Amino acid sequence: MAESVETAGGETVHASSKPIPTSSTCVFCKICSKEAPADIVYEDSEYLCFVDRRPVSTHHYLVMPRQHIPDPKTLTANDIPVVERMTEIGKQVLGDREGNIDEARLGFHWPPFLLVKHLHLHIISPEGRMSWFNRNIVFRKDSFAFSSPEYMYNYLTKKKN
Ligand SMILES: [Zn+2]
Ligand SMILES: [Zn+2]
Repeated sequence: MAESVETAGGETVHASSKPIPTSSTCVFCKICSKEAPADIVYEDSEYLCFVDRRPVSTHHYLVMPRQHIPDPKTLTANDIPVVERMTEIGKQVLGDREGNIDEARLGFHWPPFLLVKHLHLHIISPEGRMSWFNRNIVFRKDSFAFSSPEYMYNYLTKKKN
């Protein structure tokens, strides 16, 4: 799915000539290609955000890159902009939908707690409406199963050395 851009001269050029790597068995890749249904609230040529099928609070969104990145372990320091952009999109979507960012919990699931093996960021708000189990187990802040964007920056920055 190449993006076409019209130049000032009126000619059409393809913005992305190389195809984005995807996985034919991944449900999140299928959401990106619209083969699987989802309530999409944001998308651009590289990222997509949709409502979690089983929301754990008033607002619960997932931001993912269209590229099939299996999990956070495969990221390197070069991918810090990816984490930053995902975080930015998540906060923007939450703000647009009148969610409170100060009461939001953001994070990435790590294997083996990653149910769909396609990198995604959860944006959940407000934290106070989450069940005890979700707040303290499934989406426990900076646990070995779920890490905040800040944790990811530190982890990836250290990985460079
Ligand atoms: Zn995928
Ligand atoms: Zn997850």
